[in-house]
Amino acid sequence: MDKQYQPESNRYEQMKYRRCGNSGIQLPSISLGLWHNFGFTDNFQNAIQVIHKAFDMGITHFDLANNYGPPAGSAEENFGKILSQGLKSYRDELIISSKAGYYMWPGPYGEWGSRKNLIASCDQSLKRMGIEYVDIFYSHRYDPNTPLEETMEALNQLVRQGKALYAGISNYSPENTLKASKILRELGTPCLIHQPKYSMFERTPEKGLLDVLEKENIGCIVFSPLAQGLLTDKYLKGIPEKSRVASASPFLTKNNLTDENLNKIRHLNELAVQRGQSLAQMAIAWLLKDKRVTSVLIGASSPEQLIDNIGSLNKISFSKEELEQIEIILK
Ligand code: NDP
Repeated sequence: MDKQYQPESNRYEQMKYRRCGNSGIQLPSISLGLWHNFGFTDNFQNAIQVIHKAFDMGITHFDLANNYGPPAGSAEENFGKILSQGLKSYRDELIISSKAGYYMWPGPYGEWGSRKNLIASCDQSLKRMGIEYVDIFYSHRYDPNTPLEETMEALNQLVRQGKALYAGISNYSPENTLKASKILRELGTPCLIHQPKYSMFERTPEKGLLDVLEKENIGCIVFSPLAQGLLTDKYLKGIPEKSRVASASPFLTKNNLTDENLNKIRHLNELAVQRGQSLAQMAIAWLLKDKRVTSVLIGASSPEQLIDNIGSLNKISFSKEELEQIEIILK
């Protein structure tokens, strides 16, 4: 059905791009992740629509990992199918990433940071997506039982082999980021990017990581910027039938909808309305106000959510008073 896909000709006018560290790569201010909504258990036609809408609006970067689904691997397979139905003609306009590190297959080589795991996993991901290379390959998490040199050498090897163009790390502490960066630089494959969790509800990167990234000239793409949907107005009137909390996902449940959280969300929503934005837009803008954040990596279960979220780019500045008010609400 989608063999005829023709992207919007004005797609690059709608998006703003930011340089990733001091590399040659620019990433869209908003990127799309395929952790949820793109597995075999999801609606494939909807998945096609979301991906096409994203590219039509200037989102050039799609983020995957070996284990995205469910079942694990199926998001990459579905993405490969969508690529093969038309999008692949635009491969040189796309930044596709994948990762290895979390559990993927049984036995001692199916997770963590060994060279064995990373190389095998990357090969599997390329096969599932039907592509020759990924643009960015990540070590998905730090492995305390594997020498960091080995994990970084595996990333370097993938780049040397042409299976990845750039190397990235995710969920690494500031200290391990610094070490990884040094090793990768010595290997001649500088670390392009770090992928941490960062939102108004998750402030850990402010405790050292962002400073390290700036100092090391590493880009930063932040995941779960909407705290998986909490930082929107969707849960203010109960739990919608179509929502991550109502779904089978174990990652966001009713337990996250505490009175304390809902109270914060209500007050943040009021402030967003005063700013003429949706809460989702304000949550994304709040991250983009920091120049060290290269890209905000959102998820979306519909094209409408994408449109809402990209609308954040119309207003990313905050007054001093607004920022103070946000801090008071989040306390
Ligand atoms: P978000 O915080 O952006 O949450 C996305 C979810 O919020 C959507 O699926 C949708 O869920 C809801 N939503 C999005 N926009 C709106 C809107 N405008 N109004 C109402 N609801 C909205 O990000 P994710 O947690 O999905 O993570 C994004 C990406 O980050 C992942 O796909 C993945 O690529 C990456 N990631 C990386 C990790 C890592 O370890 N490196 C870990 C986790 C994620 P619904 O409609 O179903 O309620």
